[in-house]
Amino acid sequence: MSGEVLISGAGVAGMSLAYWLHRQGYAVTVVESAAALRGAGHAAGFRGAAIGVLDGMGLLSQMRDHATEMGAIALIDADGKPAGELPVRTVAGDLEVLKADVTRILHSSTADDVSYVFDDSITAIYHDEDGVGVAFARAAGRRFDLVIGADGVYSNVRRHVFGPHRDFVRHLGMSGVGFTTANRLGLDRESLLYRAPGRCVHLFSAGNPNRMTVSLWVATHSPDVDRLDRDTQERLVRERFAGVGWEVPRLLKEMRLAPDFSFSSACQIIMDRWSCGRVVLVGDAAYCAAPTTGMGASQALIGAHLLAARLMETAGDHTAAFPAYERELRPYIAENQAKGAEAAKAFAT
Ligand SMILES: Cc1cc2nc3c(=O)[nH]c(=O)nc-3n(C[C@H](O)[C@H](O)[C@H](O)COP(=O)(O)OP(=O)(O)OC[C@H]3O[C@@H](n4cnc5c(N)ncnc54)[C@H](O)[C@@H]3O)c2cc1C
Repeated sequence: MSGEVLISGAGVAGMSLAYWLHRQGYAVTVVESAAALRGAGHAAGFRGAAIGVLDGMGLLSQMRDHATEMGAIALIDADGKPAGELPVRTVAGDLEVLKADVTRILHSSTADDVSYVFDDSITAIYHDEDGVGVAFARAAGRRFDLVIGADGVYSNVRRHVFGPHRDFVRHLGMSGVGFTTANRLGLDRESLLYRAPGRCVHLFSAGNPNRMTVSLWVATHSPDVDRLDRDTQERLVRERFAGVGWEVPRLLKEMRLAPDFSFSSACQIIMDRWSCGRVVLVGDAAYCAAPTTGMGASQALIGAHLLAARLMETAGDHTAAFPAYERELRPYIAENQAKGAEAAKAFAT
């Protein structure tokens, strides 16, 4: 097959789709707004069919070499005393790899064949029956046969083609701060979870034994908190954790100094359709089920594989391939989104 494809977003969905479309003969360009590959912080869990997709890409053994191999998640009480265990599979799936390793592996498996443009972003999309004209913030404008939005929960392609974020983002009532700090608890491929109604602390260390990853989740009313400045976000988290003992006061102080501070709300993306003409969405951009499910990476990988397969079967006829991709994937997404909503409800109580 021949044709020029633009993918917005060098995440799991974007890079795995780039892999498959290049193999089918497309000339693939990936535009990524970040200056370099992203992925520090949390892990990506692969489950079920996603393992087969990794195998089909010839990446399974490389991913397995980087498995976090975490033990069970130790539940602790407000004094830091053991209060039970969660099976590791609940969060990690069948194979868990740090997201930084996942993106590095996906990128190196495609870098020779796919044109990556970092530090740029789409500023306008004009589509007609014959193609899609795209303007960029930095590069000169170009025409493509297909444009794919794989640019995450706050998808730029979705905003340009389908409408504003508020039409599609369903807030699940919780938002989280993430950062890393010194592994002073000596966690060794272990994670600790403290839960109370409306707040939760998750600590884990894998990969780098000197550092631990901290997530502090709090109840929130709107995803608009994602857009607030860091000081306000920190204040919100400090207020919600006021009076909690154990490691929390120290973690709150460390949050203040963390250079890798991030803040994001648990949201789902709910859309009536994932394509419009020659433009289609994949991964979190189209159907995020929320981080509470641990399904995000699997959904991204499976969706990208299915979309590429339907394009191949239809000899690149997007009018047949896009609806077929959507029809087949929807039941799987609906199931995951139902689980994500349940998990978020449990957080609040
Ligand atoms: C706090 C947190 C914890 C999580 N924990 C887990 C977990 O334990 N297990 C798990 O499986 N999943 C987890 N996830 C979810 C998982 O990271 C995502 O669901 C998964 O990576 C989806 O991949 P994606 O490629 O669709 O989107 P993303 O990984 O979000 O990638 C989107 C890419 O698009 C880029 N982009 C954004 N805007 C633009 C633009 N304007 N132009 C160009 N590029 C753009 C971004 O920089 C990014 O590189 C977690 C998510 C969060 C936020």
